[in-house]
Amino acid sequence: IPVVALVGRPNVGKSALFNRLIGDDTAIVSEEAGTTRDRHFARCEWQGRAFWLVDTGGLVEDSDLPMDVAIKRQVQQAIAEADLMLLTLDAKAGLHPSDARIVDMLRNSRKPWLIVANKVDDPKSTDYFEFFNLGAGDVVPVSAANGKNSGDLLDQIIEKLPEHAEEPGPEVLRVAVIGRPNVGKSSFINRLLGEDRLVVSDVAGTTRDSIDTPFTYHQRPFIFVDTAGLRRQSKIDDGVEFYSSLRTRRAIERSDICILMIDAVEGLHNQDLKIATMAWDSGRGMIIVVNKWDLKEKDDKTAAKFEKECVEKAPYLKWVPFLFTSAITGQRVTKVLDLLLEVEAERNKRITTSEVNDALQELLARRQPPQAAGHEVKLNFATQVETAPPAIVVLGNHPALVQEHYIRYLHNGFRERWGFTGNPLRVLMRQKG
Ligand code: GDP
Repeated sequence: IPVVALVGRPNVGKSALFNRLIGDDTAIVSEEAGTTRDRHFARCEWQGRAFWLVDTGGLVEDSDLPMDVAIKRQVQQAIAEADLMLLTLDAKAGLHPSDARIVDMLRNSRKPWLIVANKVDDPKSTDYFEFFNLGAGDVVPVSAANGKNSGDLLDQIIEKLPEHAEEPGPEVLRVAVIGRPNVGKSSFINRLLGEDRLVVSDVAGTTRDSIDTPFTYHQRPFIFVDTAGLRRQSKIDDGVEFYSSLRTRRAIERSDICILMIDAVEGLHNQDLKIATMAWDSGRGMIIVVNKWDLKEKDDKTAAKFEKECVEKAPYLKWVPFLFTSAITGQRVTKVLDLLLEVEAERNKRITTSEVNDALQELLARRQPPQAAGHEVKLNFATQVETAPPAIVVLGNHPALVQEHYIRYLHNGFRERWGFTGNPLRVLMRQKG
């Protein structure tokens, strides 16, 4: 979904406007864990279209850079990352010389943008008329303080948003490469795409200057999603990772399978785990690529030990395949492609109902669900109700009383039989009809 960034000088009210747009009942906003404090972006929906709204305020206000440099960087990054920019101006303070410079940058970006005049608390005020002199077309007057005109602004945003890019067919495997900065994502992708057994087709002329990289491998179409930032020769700014968590979230959302890259030398960080959990909980397939393996001092047990340490930190990683690579030497880089195909096959695997039931009966015979709240808990029947990602429903007389550890026992039992490697498996308890 598209990204809309609020840009402008400090104190024009970007954050207030951001909070107004996401805080009112006007736009439907989905709260996401961990983003309420220190939130820079939120998912909005208006007129049936969804977009990410980004408040770039913190980028300038928290920076040690001279103001003009900081603003320039803020706008440059927004241009690189966003699909629509909202230049926020202060109607009470009037035009400032740097506003005109921002307008020049936006004009040269060839991306859509619009001017928002904030602090127009009184609808009859004409303070903001001077902004028309910028020759940038319409100006939308709003008041972040009292919420006036928020709906009009949202209408304008929707109108200016680029049309949906055409989504490729279901036969395309959509892959996201995610991970902390500097683990080697760019090096890895560029190394992989440099292989001549891949046919990389750069689709020119798409509305969004191709943020994705399509290619084929064994006649199979793949897309690496959101690779624009990763394939760029010089990254805009490595220091400020303002957009990186938004980029990650968006890439996960657009993919079938995520390649989570971690640094072999640094091991699994908390931040890596957060990203992994985000991808896993959203139902995506996952492969863990441990990159910079060339820098690791190792013997024949190092890889197994590394994997074991990861599983100790997050038990579900037991079901995720690991690959140890070097984007620099190229070691095992192309192996990721076969692994992606395997994880995809596991993802789409369908187990027949009779097999699932046989498995359930065996597991029940080995261990019965414990009584709970004075009730005998009986499980009768199980079937796989979904693929990609897989889900198995178990029917019984008291689904709510089946204990967590028993569900885990069933989950592990199913896993041992069918793997579903690289994919989350949901095991759900339901009332027998
Ligand atoms: P990104 O931020 O995740 O895209 O990381 P980059 O691809 O920009 O890599 C960060 C740094 O790590 C660069 O200096 C790379 O040359 C280096 N690097 C990436 N992969 C490897 C690797 O496999 N081995 C070694 N030794 N260095 C690597």
